[in-house]
Amino acid sequence: RGLKMHFPIHAGLLRRKVGAVKAVDGVSFDIFEGETLGLVGESGCGKSTVGRALLRLYELTEGSVVIDGEDIATLAPDALRKKRPTMQMVFQDPQASLNPRMTVAAIIGEPLDEHTGWDAAKKTARVYELMDQVGLNRRFANRYPHEFSGGQRQRIGIARALALNPKFIVCDEPIAALDVSIQAQVVNLLEDLQDRLGLTYLFISHDLSMVRHIADRVAVMYLGQIAELSPREALYARPLHPYAEALLSAVPEPDPTMESRRQRIILKGDVPSPANPPKGCNFCTRCPKVMAVCREVEPRLAEVEPGRFVACHLFDNNAGGQASPGAEVR
Ligand code: SF4
Ligand code: MG
Repeated sequence: RGLKMHFPIHAGLLRRKVGAVKAVDGVSFDIFEGETLGLVGESGCGKSTVGRALLRLYELTEGSVVIDGEDIATLAPDALRKKRPTMQMVFQDPQASLNPRMTVAAIIGEPLDEHTGWDAAKKTARVYELMDQVGLNRRFANRYPHEFSGGQRQRIGIARALALNPKFIVCDEPIAALDVSIQAQVVNLLEDLQDRLGLTYLFISHDLSMVRHIADRVAVMYLGQIAELSPREALYARPLHPYAEALLSAVPEPDPTMESRRQRIILKGDVPSPANPPKGCNFCTRCPKVMAVCREVEPRLAEVEPGRFVACHLFDNNAGGQASPGAEVR
């Protein structure tokens, strides 16, 4: 609710604060148990920062993150440590996130060392079980990350994330660094694990076709804010927010003979700096449908159709009063 992540900019010899990069600037949404919420947008829009903030890998500038009724933004270090096992992260680059000097067994077992008092036998049994779950051969437990392919390394990262039986996993571009030929395998594995273990995902990606495949609902971010949050099918069939429309116009239609094929919308200009976002709607400098009010008044994310949340003045008249819980704060 009302999530803000502002990073201070310091300048000069005295390193005085001269401003802030508003990486995330007032974001609210729900993630329902067992679902996959896709989070899409161009690089720099703040989607990774949202993912890290949800796990409190950063201290939030403002806002709350309620998981199972508990606001983790305000938890004391000890309580946060107890909560850690339930929420985990799968990183983009398995190469960079795995310690090259540790064996696979040590990497996957590390969270067990930190959070359980298990003896070696119990730990080893769990590591083997995790390797089975992600499709890694147990015989490779004593090998090092560099001895594996990119796809296998991502399986190691996933096994590590699963070690403590999490309920919620932030997948931050989990397939972006992988060969196209093995991306589908890793996505299928994530889906399979979700079904078997009842996991909830935030799936961050700039690959709109992959998100269409895996997500139940999709949030589109632009310049630190959510432009639209809609059920997947509705969004891809008919995006409502002008930015979502432009972004999705670049996605290839699965069936190219389809008459409804959209015209590609090319946006003019660049994304403004998050240190100096425009007044009013943050998309007003590039929006093909901009109106006078857009340059003055910031649109709120509101439910404009059942289950569809849009932050745009074009839809103000349809808003029909209060947005549903979770979307009213902006
Ligand atoms: Fe475009 Fe105005 Fe809607 Fe912003 S509020 S997306 S500028 S029409
Ligand atoms: Mg990113």
